Amino acid sequence: MVYVKRRTTHTLRVLHPKIRSRVRIPLASGECHFYSFEGLCDYKEHIALSFKESHRVDNPLVRIHSECLTGDVFKSERCDCGDQLWESIHHFGEEGGILLYLRQEGRGIGLYNKLDAYLLQEKGSDTFEANNQLNFPNDLRNYKVAAQMLKAMNILSIRLLSNNPDKIRQLEQHGIQVSEQVSTGVYFKTENERYLLAKKYKGQHAISIV
Ligand SMILES: [Zn+2]
Repeated sequence: MVYVKRRTTHTLRVLHPKIRSRVRIPLASGECHFYSFEGLCDYKEHIALSFKESHRVDNPLVRIHSECLTGDVFKSERCDCGDQLWESIHHFGEEGGILLYLRQEGRGIGLYNKLDAYLLQEKGSDTFEANNQLNFPNDLRNYKVAAQMLKAMNILSIRLLSNNPDKIRQLEQHGIQVSEQVSTGVYFKTENERYLLAKKYKGQHAISIV
């Protein structure tokens, strides 16, 4: 007797990212709507903030910001994340714009690992070397999720507020046209000099340090 194993067909459910909710939250800097999403590729709780209804504007100005608890909330002097975040929030509050706030703490390695990396930096490593010593690559961040969020908001072309060429490359790979790169300010402090130098020379960020 020959047994024929029946093949079962599995239907793969493809999730198309979509908006889960849109909530008005007035901020000190201006009128704003917060967006949450469903079906994002990494299942994290990323949010988008649209100031002054900028999701309806052609080619809106967009800032993609990766979460940095120490900088964003506690205003750490070790990096310039908080300064850049608040620069965009104040600017968008006046002129409009969209902020994608990605939950990719410590360039994707997480908060505790980032604190471990700071310990190594105290012993002389730069920000990228410290990640490597913890067996992480220089940068684990993935901007595919940012492209998914924009597409869910029906935005396919943007002006990008950033000094980071990797963001433009990845967005375009994932179907978002970047029509213009608008530079952010550089926030030089005694405590973040080595961090900014590493971003400029190892991360190829378009920043000038004098
Ligand atoms: Zn930071």
